[in-house]
Amino acid sequence: MAKRLQSPSSINTFKQCQRKYYYSYIEKLPRKDSIHTVRGNIAHSTLEYFYDLDVSSYTMDNFEKEFKVSIQKLLLNQWASYSEKLEKLDLTPDKTRFYFEETMMMVLNWCNHFLKDMKKEYAKDPRSITDMFSQIAPVREQEFKSETHQVRGFIDAIKHHENGEIHIIDYKTNKQAVIKDSIRLQLSIYALLYQEKYGKLPQKVGAFFLREGLKMIDVTDDMTQNAKLQIENIHAHTDITDNIVDYKRTITPLCRWKTGQCDFYETCKPHG
Ligand code: SF4
Repeated sequence: MAKRLQSPSSINTFKQCQRKYYYSYIEKLPRKDSIHTVRGNIAHSTLEYFYDLDVSSYTMDNFEKEFKVSIQKLLLNQWASYSEKLEKLDLTPDKTRFYFEETMMMVLNWCNHFLKDMKKEYAKDPRSITDMFSQIAPVREQEFKSETHQVRGFIDAIKHHENGEIHIIDYKTNKQAVIKDSIRLQLSIYALLYQEKYGKLPQKVGAFFLREGLKMIDVTDDMTQNAKLQIENIHAHTDITDNIVDYKRTITPLCRWKTGQCDFYETCKPHG
């Protein structure tokens, strides 16, 4: 069998429940959208397009207000462009408003962080908003693919700092601002992919939790070694069998919880 192309998401799914991996990546059953996945996409697109803004008319007197107004408009546009998907979720108007306002709070929180960076940049070296904006802008939504490891990922933001440090950042809409194991593994895989492409490791990786702020960790050799091990483990399993019986169920509270269930619950019937 040919090697399957893996991703941080497929590897984390496999680690959580092999049967879930089977349904998602081998049988390719459709996954259901939820408000959390849809608004995650909306928030990501908003931040991606933010750095395409034309800021030539912004000045030191008005830039804070202009950036805040612009990010709100971007979110409104993105929310509208996802209207079909949002309607299919069948949320009540109150729920829809709640999630819209919460997402607005998230992107404004991110924007405040960005504005602090702009002010720091100005304090260091006062120059035009356009210059500082392009200096701060990270490389966005870059795809990395490793032929050696047969794994790929899309990195939200890569920042090249003046001191030569490279930081990789993933945007998260998670409730808890914690770099849990699955996020750590995702970031470790990104560091490995970056190293393979550019011949050097980034110094830090982290997550910008849109509710709370940025959390960064130092990249260590242990992280990339573990990433390699996890990639090898999944290939060792998925490259030799696509028989459902070889993908065991892991029945936990993640199968069904108070307000939702695994996308494949009805097919899997873990509780009989
Ligand atoms: S319902 Fe539970 S056991 Fe079944 S695929 Fe989903 S997570 Fe795995």
